[in-house]
Amino acid sequence: MSLLDLHLLGSSTLRTRSVEVAAVDEALRQLIDDLFLTMDTAKGVGLAANQVGITKRVAVVDAESDRFVMVNPIITSAEGRQRAEEGCLSIPEVYGDVTRAERIVLEATDREGRRYTKEAEGLVARAIQHEIDHLDGILFIDHLSALKRQILLARWKKENRGKAVTKSLQPPPSPKK
Ligand SMILES: [Zn+2]
Repeated sequence: MSLLDLHLLGSSTLRTRSVEVAAVDEALRQLIDDLFLTMDTAKGVGLAANQVGITKRVAVVDAESDRFVMVNPIITSAEGRQRAEEGCLSIPEVYGDVTRAERIVLEATDREGRRYTKEAEGLVARAIQHEIDHLDGILFIDHLSALKRQILLARWKKENRGKAVTKSLQPPPSPKK
């Protein structure tokens, strides 16, 4: 497994609509494992492949002890509304309140290439919606008011001027023997 570099706001892959995965093969399983490792290391609740520069429709989620991969995910039904603060590994230290559906039904393909459906609500439903947005080139800041977004982006640009649009993560220290 490899730790992958995170792409940050400013990287074009975050604004690219990712392409459907044709088949779940060994290379894709490797990518899935790398996404889980990278998400865990970055302490995120979700990670989409285009956040590591790969524009394929694959994302992983780990929220409220629910851990799963979504290949070619779609939301087949959505109801209710929830509003809560969100952040994103690709826009560190920026947070904003986003309204999402409260309950959804997800349809996606798993690591073995099998299609599955899953009902989710609350934080898990929020994470799924956030990650599918990524696959469509949408970021959570796009859901904020224009004014709020302008303020956050102006601050981001000031603090990140001249910095690279990718970030290498440090592997966690190996456990002491
Ligand atoms: Zn994100």
